[in-house]
Amino acid sequence: MTKKSESAPKTYEFKAELKQLLNIIVHSLYTQPEIFLRELISNASDALNKVRFMQVTSQPVLDPDSELKITIAVDEKRKWFTIEDTGIGMTRDELIQNIGTVASSGTLKFMEELQKNGKTPDGDLIGKFGVGFYSVFMVTDEVTVETRHAGLESKGYRWKSDGKGTFTIEEIDRKERGTKIFFTLKDEYKEFAEEYRVKSIIQKYSNFVNFPIQIGKEKVNKLDALWRRSKDEIKDEELVEFYKFIASDWEPPLGHLQVSIEGTVNFKALLFIGTRKPDNFFTDIREKTLHLYANRVFIQDDAIDLLPEYLRFVKGVVDTEDLPLNISRQVTQQSPVMEKIRNVLTSRILQLLDEWAKNDPGKYEKFFKIFGMYFKAGIGMDFTNKEKIVKLLRFESTTKPKGELVSLEEYVARMKPEQKEIYYILGENREVVDKNPNLEYFRKHDIEVLFMTDPMDVFIVPQLDEFDKKKIKSIDKADIDLKEKPTENPEDTLAESSLNSLITVFKETLGEKVADIVASKRLVDSPVTLVLGKDSIDPQTEKMMKMMNMEIPAHKKIMEINPNHPLIRNLSRLNFGNSNDPILRNTIVHLYESSQLLDGSLSDPGEYLRRMNELLIQATK
Ligand code: ADP
Repeated sequence: MTKKSESAPKTYEFKAELKQLLNIIVHSLYTQPEIFLRELISNASDALNKVRFMQVTSQPVLDPDSELKITIAVDEKRKWFTIEDTGIGMTRDELIQNIGTVASSGTLKFMEELQKNGKTPDGDLIGKFGVGFYSVFMVTDEVTVETRHAGLESKGYRWKSDGKGTFTIEEIDRKERGTKIFFTLKDEYKEFAEEYRVKSIIQKYSNFVNFPIQIGKEKVNKLDALWRRSKDEIKDEELVEFYKFIASDWEPPLGHLQVSIEGTVNFKALLFIGTRKPDNFFTDIREKTLHLYANRVFIQDDAIDLLPEYLRFVKGVVDTEDLPLNISRQVTQQSPVMEKIRNVLTSRILQLLDEWAKNDPGKYEKFFKIFGMYFKAGIGMDFTNKEKIVKLLRFESTTKPKGELVSLEEYVARMKPEQKEIYYILGENREVVDKNPNLEYFRKHDIEVLFMTDPMDVFIVPQLDEFDKKKIKSIDKADIDLKEKPTENPEDTLAESSLNSLITVFKETLGEKVADIVASKRLVDSPVTLVLGKDSIDPQTEKMMKMMNMEIPAHKKIMEINPNHPLIRNLSRLNFGNSNDPILRNTIVHLYESSQLLDGSLSDPGEYLRRMNELLIQATK
C-alpha cells in the first residue's frame, strides 16, 4: 500500500559529521579521484555476495535467475557514468541508514587529522581506510541511486544528492532487484567516461572481484579463484595484485603462503604477510582482510576465528568444503572445522616464519619489527606453540647497535662458559635503559644483556621463564649471583667501619622509603642504584598495573651504594665531621630520587628540582 505523500521526493538532511566528511573527502582526496571506482565496485560486490548468500541458503529472492554481475556504462561525449549491480539492493530505511551516516567513526577522525596536518593523502594513506560511497562526490556534483531490495515485498526507490547537505528519496517503478548509480562527471574528470581508462582502473584495483564486471559486452576482470590454482600456475605478479586487492594495500607483501589440505579437514588457503606498520597496538588491522569461503561461496570478509589473535597481521583467503554455507558467526566460532583449520594454519605460518628466520634473516627481522608486538603476545596465548614462538622472539642487546636484533639462541651461543643465566633489562626505550647503572657490572664483565623496551615486553616477561634450560632473569633482581669485583685501587674503597656508619646515616635519612641499604658489587661508575628484591615488581610492570587500575602490592626497593665512588667517599667524609650535616642529608635524598628518575618511578619532579637547587646554592656559595 503506497501512501500518496511517498511518491513525491522527500528531502532529508545528512548527519552533521557526514557533511564534514564529504567536505574533507572532496577537498583532500583529489590526488586520487579514481578511488571512487574502487569503492563503488567494492560496494556492488558486497551487495552481490549478500544476495548470493540468500540464494544458497534457500531464502527467496526477487529475480532469482538474473545473473550476478556488475555492469558499467560510460558515455564519453556526455560525460556520463553508470554502474549497476544485481545485488541485494536497499530498502528505503537502508538508503537512509547506510548512505546517510558514516560507517566508521574512525574514518572521520582520521580524515580530520590528515587535513589538520596539511598532509596530502598518498596511495598508502588512502589504502588505510575505505572512504566509501561518498568518494563519488570527488568526481561529480550530483549522484542518483536507484535501487530495489532483493526481498520479495520490496519497492524501488530513487535517492538523489548533491553531497552538500541534503538528499531526497522518492518511490519509483523499478522492476529489477539491485542498485544502479549514475552521474555526470565534472569537466576535469571526464577521463572516467573513457572506456579504456575505466578498464585500466578496474584491472588495477578490482581484478579479483568475484563477479563479472562488464563494460559494453566485455568482461574486464579475471574471475578464477586464484587460491584454487596450483602453485606453479600462479605468477608472482598475480600474487602481488591479489594481495593488494584483498588487503587494500599499495605495497607488495613481504611474503605469502599457499596451503592445500586434504584429509580430516579440507581447505585451500592463500595467505599474506604485508609490510604496513600498524599505528599502534590498538589499531584494528584485521578489518575485512581475512576472507572465508565455503566451496567458493563467499561467507565472511572478517573471519577472525580462522587464526589466533596473535597472528592477526596475516591476511588472505581460506576456502573450505567442510563448512555449511548458512553458517553463522556464532557457529563458526565454535565449529570444530574452524578449530582444525586454525591449528593447521597456525603451524604453517610459524613454519614459514621459521624458514624466514633461518634462510632470510633480514626479511624476518623486518617482519618482526613491524608485527613483533602482536606476534610475541603468542607466548602467553598459545601454549602448544610457545616453544616455537620463543625461538622466534628477537630483542635488542648490549652487544649490538640500536636497531639490530638478536635471538635467544644467538644469546646462548655467545654466553660465557661460567654464565648460567640469560639476562635482560626492562624499560621504556633503549636510550634510557642504556644509562641504567645496574648495567655497569655487566658491561664491565662483558656479559650480554637483552633490552626489553617494546611496550609488549612487560606482558611477555612473566611468561619467559626459561630458554634452553637457562633461567631468563632481570638484571634488576638482587639475587643475581655477582662475582666480587676486584678493586683496582684498594685505597679508593671506603673502610668497612666508615661504610657501615654511612649506611646507617642513609637508613636514618631514607627510612621507610627503601627496604634496605647495602654496599654494591655491581656498580662501576654510579654512586647508587635501586634494585628489586627477589619478589618485588619491576617499575614497568608497576606502571602497567597502575594503567590497568590493578592493586599494587606494597613493595620497596633495595638501595645499593658504591663504596668506590668519589661522591660516596665525600659523603663519608662529611659524615665524619657531622652526621647531621644538611648537605649530607639532602644529597642522600637527592641520590635516592635520582635513581627513581632513572628507573621511571619518580613521582614528584617538582620536589626533586627544588632539592637539587638547594644543593646547587650550597655548592656555589
Ligand atoms: P562501506 O562500504 O564501508 O560500508 P559505503 O559508504 O561505501 O561504506 O556504503 C555504505 C553502505 O551502503 C554499505 O555498507 C551498504 O550497506 C550500502 N550500499 C552501498 N552501495 C550499495 C550497493 N551497490 N548495493 C547495496 N547496498 C549498498
